Amino acid sequence: MDWDRLREDFDWERARGDELHPFPDGGINLFHEAVGHHVAEGRGAQVAMRWLGKDGSRQDLTYSDLDDLAGRFAGVLESLGTSRGDRVFTLLGRVPELYVAALGTLRAGRVFCPLFSAFGPEPIASRVGPGDGRVLVTTPRLYQRKVAPIRDQLPQLEHVLLVGDDTLDGCEALAPRLAAATPLPTASMDPEDMALLHFTSGTTGKPKGAVHVHAAVLAHKLTGRWVFDLHPGDVYWCTADPGWVTGTSYGIVAPLALGATLVIDEAEFDGPRWYGILEREKVAVWYTAPTAIRMLMKMGLEVARDFDLSSVRHALSVGEPLAPDGVAFGEVLLGTPFHDTWWQSETGAIMIANLPGQPVRPGSMGKPVPGITAAIVEHDGDDRLEVLADDAEGELALRPGWPSMFRTYLHNDERYQRSFKDGWYLSGDLAKRDADGYYWFVGRADDVFKSAGHLIGPFEVESALVEHPDIAEAAVIGKPDPVAGAIVKAFLVVRPGVTVDAALERSVRGHARKRLGPAVAPREVTFVDSLPHTRSGKVMRRLLKARELGLPEGDTSTLENP
Ligand code: ATP
Ligand code: MG
Repeated sequence: MDWDRLREDFDWERARGDELHPFPDGGINLFHEAVGHHVAEGRGAQVAMRWLGKDGSRQDLTYSDLDDLAGRFAGVLESLGTSRGDRVFTLLGRVPELYVAALGTLRAGRVFCPLFSAFGPEPIASRVGPGDGRVLVTTPRLYQRKVAPIRDQLPQLEHVLLVGDDTLDGCEALAPRLAAATPLPTASMDPEDMALLHFTSGTTGKPKGAVHVHAAVLAHKLTGRWVFDLHPGDVYWCTADPGWVTGTSYGIVAPLALGATLVIDEAEFDGPRWYGILEREKVAVWYTAPTAIRMLMKMGLEVARDFDLSSVRHALSVGEPLAPDGVAFGEVLLGTPFHDTWWQSETGAIMIANLPGQPVRPGSMGKPVPGITAAIVEHDGDDRLEVLADDAEGELALRPGWPSMFRTYLHNDERYQRSFKDGWYLSGDLAKRDADGYYWFVGRADDVFKSAGHLIGPFEVESALVEHPDIAEAAVIGKPDPVAGAIVKAFLVVRPGVTVDAALERSVRGHARKRLGPAVAPREVTFVDSLPHTRSGKVMRRLLKARELGLPEGDTSTLENP
């Protein structure tokens, strides 16, 4: 598919030069596509964001409100003497100011980089420093606890803006500045100008800073339409925090570009609260993650019985493999299966998905979205790469050229160049494609291992283990073994109320052998209270392995509960 041709089909491209489009020929701005054009076209009064506070408070912001606040925030950035391309970081919970800062930064042509508010001082320093953060927006509390101790390591960080009216030494209060600011007109940017900087989750190692440009909005918006079936006025809830790429691409940009109303919950996961939100806000389209789905499954369906969830028209999942039982849980809970989607910080937008209207194959990630060419490939040391046939396992590769593809890893172009071979982008994930074109996740290249000659992907083993009625969550690693090369070792979390004893272990082992055969069933099983997750909800198998072997744990800065 020719993305340039497609571009011409869109209003926002056709509108170039007319009074609704503020830029001279060739200019674009991601903010304009997300917010500005709705206001220009008379839809400013629609609610863009419904914010739900931890304490039960609510706040609605219309597209006009967001336009005004983002304009003011952009004005603040201008008044601070920052320039286009300067990096603006946020270290905030999901409060309205986070979204205002994101949109205002883009509007001003500065680069937005969100951090999880749960990060400690070290992960903050190792992102703001190498990310060249010039401005940081945070709260007095977060600043004192996490930034003040490392401030002297960040000489480039000139401005710290604190949400609210209070300020601290070396910081400035944001609220009075916003109130006094003159809204800055939307900056006309080159489509290739940097807009977003996203650090990867750090699941397999040190997080990398993926650079995205303004033109990425084309992919955000189109995939929002195709994959989410989002229409103007739809109530949409993405449960991901903007600290992770999903919370920005599909928590802010895509749904706004399509004129939806975002639901934003400040609180962390809470099953009954979530069901209450789906019911009360009449959420139509819901994007969440396997970790959350597993927690809801673990809670049991009884909790959901008190809620009317019939408003949910379409439900989707991302971030980790979604096992067939998770897909089916959607059917029971919502009357629609969870639709799996696959992408990465690097791809900027969804690449593979179970599209609405396409039959869902439980356990499959779906098919490449329009405009994306995918393949399963094999490569070794040299420059050559071989495209594999259906049903063969290999690395998932994509043909470069879609608009939201990362343009480099910040300050690590060499690592970026290494992600390409023979005209393909190599994702680092292993998968296979069936004869009908559906892709099936096998594992991350780093997590897959060989046991007595069998190539084993943790997902296949984990999926079988969680089918056991007493098992809530499972993680599988290859534990080095002098005879087999590696043996299959499983870490298991049981459902509430289940007693861990020899009978349970026998039953789980029996189930695994029946489902997987003796070569793939776990040789070792350990019951644990919880698994190590990244802040974005991914199981860190490398950590389980390091702990098992008594090795150094490597970068754990993205661990949820360090
Ligand atoms: P790092 O690159 O630092 O190790 P990460 O790869 O977890 O971290 P992200 O870019 O946040 O960082 O996550 C993308 C990865 O998440 C994918 O490469 C894939 O391994 C996993 N993933 C995303 N969606 C799915 C899915 N639907 N099924 C299976 N895995 C998925
Ligand atoms: Mg990755």
